[in-house]
Order: sequence, then C-alpha cells, then structure tokens
Amino acid sequence: MLICFYCKIFIFNTSQKVYKQHTEGNRHRINVCVYIKNFYLNWLLKRVNN
Ligand SMILES: [Zn+2]
Repeated sequence: MLICFYCKIFIFNTSQKVYKQHTEGNRHRINVCVYIKNFYLNWLLKRVNN
C-alpha cells in the first residue's frame, strides 16, 4: 500500500503501472500544484513575519 503525499489518499494497488497512472492524472497534478503553492506561501509568510 502506498500513500500519495500530495493527494492524501491511499493507493492499495502498489504496482508501478498503477502508481504511474496516478501521478499522470489531472487530479494528482493539481494537488501537487496546490501543495507547492501553499509551501511557498507559508515560506513567504514566515519571512514576512520574522
Ligand atoms: Zn497523488
């Protein structure tokens, strides 16, 4: 079982093919974009606040 860190979901089928299909999916790509955006926003806010 794998956990997709970005989508916060479990992938019960751990074959490379299934995981690759997931990472190429639109929903996963959007979640990666949202994660990166939030990461930089938090980083910027920390810099501004300090
Ligand atoms: Zn994902």
